[in-house]
Amino acid sequence: MRIGFGYDIHRLKTGEDLILGGEKIDSEKGLEGHSDADVLIHALIDSLLGASSLGDIGVYFPDSDPQWRGISSLILLEKISALLAEKRWAILNVDLTLVLEKPKLFGYYPGMKKNIARVLKMSEDNINIKASTNEGIELIGKEEGIAAFSVALLEKR
Ligand code: MG
Repeated sequence: MRIGFGYDIHRLKTGEDLILGGEKIDSEKGLEGHSDADVLIHALIDSLLGASSLGDIGVYFPDSDPQWRGISSLILLEKISALLAEKRWAILNVDLTLVLEKPKLFGYYPGMKKNIARVLKMSEDNINIKASTNEGIELIGKEEGIAAFSVALLEKR
């Protein structure tokens, strides 16, 4: 078994869509980025690549490549899922943490879990999503951005 860790942060901007875990969140501000800027899925991808020693998200989906512009990060996750299957890695569980001041996301967790379970072909019971505020401190506290952390446990089959 192997453990992996992932982290990502994106800047908040008025007028952008806010997509987290593949769900469109009701919010005045959204995240800026090359893809749909789904910070939660990006952290998840990096934890999967970390556990499997397959690099990081930038290796597979560079910012400089126009084909990833505005793309759903669930499609990127699907590509990484296929890569892990090819290398005979099974995902045992993932634990995800978002850090943001608002909005409250509790009601969106079931949809996010469903999206991730579908793409990674794993049980929702093995996916945990939670969130914390930054208590008004520093850039996340000032609502300039949203960060995400992910830990994943993989098993070689
Ligand atoms: Mg990112």
